[in-house]
Amino acid sequence: MKKRIGLLYGGKSAEHEVSLSTAKAVTQAVDFNEFDVFPIFITLKGEWRVGPQLTEPAQTIEQLQFTTTSEQSENNITQFINTHMENPFDVVFPLLHGTNGEDGTVQGLLEVLNIPYVGNSVLGSAAGMDKVVMKQLFEMANLPQVPYEFFIRSEWEREKAAWIKKCEKTLGYPMFVKPANLGSSVGISKATNAEELEKAVQFALQYDRKIVIEQGIKAREIELAVLGNDTPNVSVAGEIKPMTEFYDYDSKYKDGSTALIIPAELQANVYTDLVDMAKRAFKAIDGAGLVRADFFVTDNNDIFINEVNTMPGFTPVSMYPLLWQHTDVPYPQLVKELINLALERHTEKQ
Ligand code: ATP
Ligand code: MG
Ligand code: MG
Ligand code: MG
Repeated sequence: MKKRIGLLYGGKSAEHEVSLSTAKAVTQAVDFNEFDVFPIFITLKGEWRVGPQLTEPAQTIEQLQFTTTSEQSENNITQFINTHMENPFDVVFPLLHGTNGEDGTVQGLLEVLNIPYVGNSVLGSAAGMDKVVMKQLFEMANLPQVPYEFFIRSEWEREKAAWIKKCEKTLGYPMFVKPANLGSSVGISKATNAEELEKAVQFALQYDRKIVIEQGIKAREIELAVLGNDTPNVSVAGEIKPMTEFYDYDSKYKDGSTALIIPAELQANVYTDLVDMAKRAFKAIDGAGLVRADFFVTDNNDIFINEVNTMPGFTPVSMYPLLWQHTDVPYPQLVKELINLALERHTEKQ
């Protein structure tokens, strides 16, 4: 019997588009002799549309999006649940980035329905999505980080000037201002003076009520891929070299200007430390399946962890799959491995 995979993609998130390319790539990597794929497209508004069973790889993104039939006009989540009740999915692959998907919400739904799913748990996903919670967990795991401050909207609005002063004192310019719950650099900007800082906070507040401000660091950006459950493996390291001011949304997905160097040139002891830290970061958020761990490495080889991403970019040209490809795990094998890890974890929980 073929296994039934539900492929969840799109999503009510500022990272919706990124997920579309990933979904297409994953259907092309699935072994259709072993699996039937059910595309489940979530619109930007958050409507769920269960598509027809795919018996061969999707050729275009439109093919994956164009899944509404007349009887599906309701386009809601009950259709997903009914489909599962009639003929259960063996596993769901939540290929969703950002809020409403990478943050534990969808994982919660899948838990309640008792469906095995790829990747991190409710807790791990939520902890990895909220940069403040993540930083606090990393602190407890003694992982070095750049200094930071955080506040929520009402605190900022009450005491703008005091926050600016505080950040100037504890962090200094340049600073990086980020919405706490997002990814793909959406809402992030660099501030080099008080005026820019205020603007950057205002901008980030469009995406979240909680804001993180970090000391800007001049360092190389190094990423490692973690794969596994209780005893995860770590890939070779990769370096990101954006040609822009920093690794922003366009340099990630649009202009193709960013160089990915795999493996990154690093001293052996630095790489060993990074592997150890990537594993500790995975454990700190109670990771499962996969994370991409992002680091800063200075010219003196001081290492700071920036973040982990619980559903990192996953197209064949994204860092996470490329890191595994250079560690002798090609893309189709990686997809299969993630499905196996999901099933393993589900069985363990029973
Ligand atoms: P993604 O989830 O796509 O990896 P994100 O939205 O979670 O991204 P970050 O990784 O935190 O965002 O930051 C995006 C980019 O901004 C980094 O890759 C780096 O180029 C730059 N950056 C972030 N924080 C700092 C910092 N403290 N100092 C210097 N550069 C930074
Ligand atoms: Mg991130
Ligand atoms: Mg991310
Ligand atoms: Mg990042």
